Amino acid sequence: MAESRKVAVIGAGASGLVTARELRREGHRVVVFEKSNQLGGLWVYNPRVETDILSLDPNREIIHSSLYKSLRTNLPRQLMSFSDYSFDCAENVNRLNFPGHEEVLKFLNEFAKDFGINELIRFNTEVVRVAPKSEELSSEEVFDSVVICNGHYTTPRIANIPGNHNYRVPEPFKDQIVVVIGDGPSGHDISRDIATVAKQVHLTTGSSEIEVSKLDNYANLWNQEKIDHVDENGEVTFIDGSSIHADIILHCTGLYDFPFLETNGIVSVDDESRAVGPLYKHVFPPKLSPCLSFVGIPYQAIVFLMFELQAKWIAQVLSGKVLLPTEEEMLADVEDHNRQLEEAGIPKRHTHQYIDWLAARVEMPPIDAGLTEMYWSIYKFVGQVGWSGYRDLWNF
Ligand code: FAD
Repeated sequence: MAESRKVAVIGAGASGLVTARELRREGHRVVVFEKSNQLGGLWVYNPRVETDILSLDPNREIIHSSLYKSLRTNLPRQLMSFSDYSFDCAENVNRLNFPGHEEVLKFLNEFAKDFGINELIRFNTEVVRVAPKSEELSSEEVFDSVVICNGHYTTPRIANIPGNHNYRVPEPFKDQIVVVIGDGPSGHDISRDIATVAKQVHLTTGSSEIEVSKLDNYANLWNQEKIDHVDENGEVTFIDGSSIHADIILHCTGLYDFPFLETNGIVSVDDESRAVGPLYKHVFPPKLSPCLSFVGIPYQAIVFLMFELQAKWIAQVLSGKVLLPTEEEMLADVEDHNRQLEEAGIPKRHTHQYIDWLAARVEMPPIDAGLTEMYWSIYKFVGQVGWSGYRDLWNF
């Protein structure tokens, strides 16, 4: 008979919501802890920014959202559905291919309402400690299993470079010289937003193989080399030796951070490779499974579908329907995986064909080939037309 466990889910963002649904479907008793007063995680727009502009003070008030006002999804709406719950189920505001953030929040709220997830969530409840059960502290709540769904875009990746992580609107950057660190979709969007008012914007990458050049048709926006160092006056020196004086440095990068997790080093975050581990298939720490698991670690994926499949897998492992390999086998798999990625020169956090692997674990068919094709077509298209305007030009 399937086992029912008492499971804590940390976070009521997209990953926590779908995890709660899957756990409950599988017959588990679920409590979702959410430190804010509403669900949706990073899709909740908050115009306020943190007061500590370096986000370094551990006692600062943390504002979870990294969302800026103009943000539109970087994946098309077709790739933002769950397998059995279409993005278009919700009565959405408009039908843009790449909708605005308000629409995603609406979708997640509808999802939670339709599956009765709200009643499982304890709002305004921040988890400050997760540790193996101890005898001494009786005030703690005890669960059979904890699933960590806390997202990874709140703590900026500072990399010893001072700067600000909080971007909402361009106006405060008027006439400033701004260096933007991180050339993912957000870094590109934000640079172009700011370039409408700033004196100069320099978008830097982690790569040393960039040709310094103006971007698109902007007179004041440059693609820059990797930063070598920044001195205390804001003088930014790039690895080719050139330098500029920056008024503001903006970080558009995120970090895995589990300040509440006490595992005696069994699970750790490697800042350099930006990987969490060891995790079997990015979900289970071999030594602590199935009591501890993570949803949402890889980020090169069809994200919502990946959350859902990881959650189904966790739910079925906990009920005993699906078996995990032994601890030794899982550790050997992690080592093998990391070795293969290193040999191929791919960072540990990137994954390929992972979603189909997960689907097979829970006896679901491989994901629709059309969706995978659509996903890769976006990267190809951005390669052809650049980041500027790809959302409005893309037509699959
Ligand atoms: P989050 O949404 O960050 O939710 C985590 C939740 O955990 C939050 O509500 C937080 O308050 C809560 N929490 C954290 N710590 C604690 C604690 N200790 N105790 C209690 N609660 C806690 N993905 C796409 O599919 N399409 C896109 O277009 C897209 N665009 C993106 C744009 C940006 C700028 C960013 C940063 C990411 C984007 N992503 C996109 C990826 C994004 O990660 C996912 O879409 C997804 O919404 C993340 O969900 P999550 O639940 O993992 O994390």
